Amino acid sequence: MTAAAPAVTLPFPRRPKYGDSEITAVTELLRSGSLSEIGCGPASRGLEDAFRELIGTTYGLSFNSGTASLHAALHAVESATGASLNAGVAMSPMTWISAITAAFHAGSFPVFADMAPGSPNLDPAAAEATGCSAILATHAWGIPARMDEFARFQSAVIEDCSHAHGALYQGRPVGSWGIAGCFSLQESKAVSAGEGGVLTTSDRGIYEAAMTVGHHPIRLAAELTDPGLLPLAAAAASYKYRIPALSAVIATEQLRTLPERMKASQENLAHLTDLISAHDLPLQPVPLPDGSVRGWYGMPFTLLEPVTAPDDLAVACKRAGLPVRPLYRDWMSTPLLQQPALIDRYWPHMRARWNPPDARDFPNYQHFRNQTLVLKIPDVAAPRYIEQVAAALTITSKPF
Ligand SMILES: *Cc1c(COP(=O)(O)O)cnc(C)c1O
Repeated sequence: MTAAAPAVTLPFPRRPKYGDSEITAVTELLRSGSLSEIGCGPASRGLEDAFRELIGTTYGLSFNSGTASLHAALHAVESATGASLNAGVAMSPMTWISAITAAFHAGSFPVFADMAPGSPNLDPAAAEATGCSAILATHAWGIPARMDEFARFQSAVIEDCSHAHGALYQGRPVGSWGIAGCFSLQESKAVSAGEGGVLTTSDRGIYEAAMTVGHHPIRLAAELTDPGLLPLAAAAASYKYRIPALSAVIATEQLRTLPERMKASQENLAHLTDLISAHDLPLQPVPLPDGSVRGWYGMPFTLLEPVTAPDDLAVACKRAGLPVRPLYRDWMSTPLLQQPALIDRYWPHMRARWNPPDARDFPNYQHFRNQTLVLKIPDVAAPRYIEQVAAALTITSKPF
């Protein structure tokens, strides 16, 4: 090698994760002397209202994690619609592990279906073919799943919007298409509460049933109308999933800056995409469905040359200083899903019932795993940085 290979030398451009308005909101709350809202106090109400407005649903319901909101949504589907989860919950393996284990929490289990070719998301036809009455559709890396295709099925569809705050599919917010939308507010997500979650729905039955999973009897007494659920208001029997008020006010402030952060991310991505095509680099952005606005959790690019040595590629990316967000590991091969003794210990309802999945049954998933590079895109204007990234991406022209 003669000249030094181009590398990213600038630091990743970022704004402070929490700005003055978050600090002010937290300080005011501390001064108020009240950090726990056992009913629906102003902090949780503020967050829920902000989500209702953003997503355009009738209800927003806060939780202390995205996982808790998924558990509550799955429970609510069974409790409020009468759909049975006995045949499992259809989902893509390309998601976070707790979106998978949430099916176990809800007394059911995951049934994996393959991804749609050329997409980071669950294939609607493959999901339907599982015969499950409930489908969990993740908008992976902020690319909206094709919700109109899911809507044609009988099955209840729950959207996992944890990568897709503010995203639109066919002009309509994700989280408003399915019977429920679930948003993680964990710190790596585009809207952070530190830890937290929100469920969105326009279905009163889903809202009430989800509330019984983890909210305080005082809130249940104030809001439940379903006579079948009202006894729970006397002493809720379920879990404790309330969001801390501090987390709620932080996430509410984060929502205010979401549009400008999305805009800057979009401009950086457009710049990077232009440079990739100008230099004819062998990778292309995973396409957005028409009429979509994407959310942000890194950006997946498809590598056009076959990758046979993914570990070498990862090393080369690191050496080049590229802002790579690693793919999720293959959860299907994780001991938690492979070892019957672990399954039995954590989810006794699965005793002698669980068939460990085999990743070889999911060719589109395998292809995506091998051929995808997820890059973090700055959410502040960063033209110089993007130019360095594009230059360093020339490494992808070598075979790996
Ligand atoms: C982060 C995440 C979750 C879980 O959210 P927590 O708030 O960490 O419980 C679920 N699904 C996806 C796709 C996620 O990225």
